[in-house]
Amino acid sequence: MLKKNEIVKLTIDKMTFEGLGVARYNDEDCNNFAVFVHAAAVGEILDCRIVKVLPKYAFAIPESFDLLSDIRVEPECKTYRRCGGCSFSNISYPAEVEFKKGFVEDAFHKNFPSNVCKIEDVIASPQDEFYRNKAQFPVSLNGKCGFFAKNTHRIVEIEKCFLNDEAFLPLVETFESYISRYMVSCYNEETGKGLLRHFCLRKAPGTGEIMIIIVVNGRDIPHKEQLTSALSAHDGVKSIYMNINTANTNVILSRECRLLWGKETIRDRLCSMFFDISPLSFYQINSPQAENIYNYIKENAGLTQDDIVLDLYSGIGTIGLILSRQVKKVIAIEVVEQAVSNAAQNMLQNDIRNYLLYLASAAETTDILSGLPSADIPNVVIVDPPRKGLDEETIKAMLKINPRKIIYVSCNPATLARDLEIITRTEPSYKLDKIQPFDMFPRTSHVETVVLISKTEI
Ligand code: SAH
Repeated sequence: MLKKNEIVKLTIDKMTFEGLGVARYNDEDCNNFAVFVHAAAVGEILDCRIVKVLPKYAFAIPESFDLLSDIRVEPECKTYRRCGGCSFSNISYPAEVEFKKGFVEDAFHKNFPSNVCKIEDVIASPQDEFYRNKAQFPVSLNGKCGFFAKNTHRIVEIEKCFLNDEAFLPLVETFESYISRYMVSCYNEETGKGLLRHFCLRKAPGTGEIMIIIVVNGRDIPHKEQLTSALSAHDGVKSIYMNINTANTNVILSRECRLLWGKETIRDRLCSMFFDISPLSFYQINSPQAENIYNYIKENAGLTQDDIVLDLYSGIGTIGLILSRQVKKVIAIEVVEQAVSNAAQNMLQNDIRNYLLYLASAAETTDILSGLPSADIPNVVIVDPPRKGLDEETIKAMLKINPRKIIYVSCNPATLARDLEIITRTEPSYKLDKIQPFDMFPRTSHVETVVLISKTEI
């Protein structure tokens, strides 16, 4: 049996979605015992030090390599082993994209064991660095912006993140100078004391506009004129908010936002349209790849001028508004009030008139549609839910209107495959036409997938 600190020779034959190498260890006591090796790539043969042994598997770190993998690259980031943000900094980007196809395949095989679901090759991100238009830095007790270490709330201070938009680092430096100059206290999760909790940044890449949100455990910020004047001197800064979050919670933003400087929303340009974004509204973090996804739906969903589209989880309106010119009408449902008010503004500023918007939960779809004339009942449904996927009520509501097409946009292959198994088992006339993954989140374990589903006559 393996013991802590023992050194063993292993061969890595797989990688997990968290970027750990997987090896199998055999001796007279154990057969094919799984060992997860940090920062090891598939194909590598190495001596590893065992750092933790559990009944069914163990964890190890590399000591020395006999054979390095062809896909290994030297990470540019110095903190990648400690920071929880990235999983794949030590392998080449094309290899990462290939692994992500495997994650989607695994999720579908698990839920459709007797059915072969063809997964298309993953469409790589146009940029594999500096693609994030949004960052949320926890503030350390030393007044530095960082990221949480893997699976913990310990803050790792970071000099430079290779995923974030390059406009963010100078803003972080200005914020950190303010903290040290005025000796402003920073939040301590254990005691619940200290003021500054998070420094959040969001950029609209199509226009360059930037929004800053300072999350505080209190109701005011000392020397706020000095702070807003230093931050607003940076190029692109258009809006600075304070978010009041005094709860002992992991949720970064509370509902209480106060505008300190500038305008209430920032405006982006995407798919030749303008979109306003508020602090609490969802917006895809990789804009060029989001544009690819929206264009893919536009070009491949087979929509016509007779279609009425139900856009569930519609956010600030992106998908529905982009498709609205192709179809007769769009009915959108979204639960966050600021996002719905952005969607209303986005409809007006893009001069769209066939768009109906509801502030409600997707689970209330049946009630909402029952108030509409029968000619307005949608025949196409688009869903783009958060990671937890669809709930039972929403699936029922979708199937009740018997749509000719369903388009499922998902950021979690596990819940996507689970929901599609339920949909196709409940109504076997629905067939999965195309499963197209997109890498929206290079270097991390996440992958986005669009599935086109149509009803066939049986
Ligand atoms: N389609 C949009 C947003 C997708 S993100 C886009 O492409 O930008 C998922 C959205 O679902 C978020 O805006 C979130 O606020 C919303 N949401 C979460 N739970 C919901 C629910 N139960 N009902 C309706 N919308 C919900």
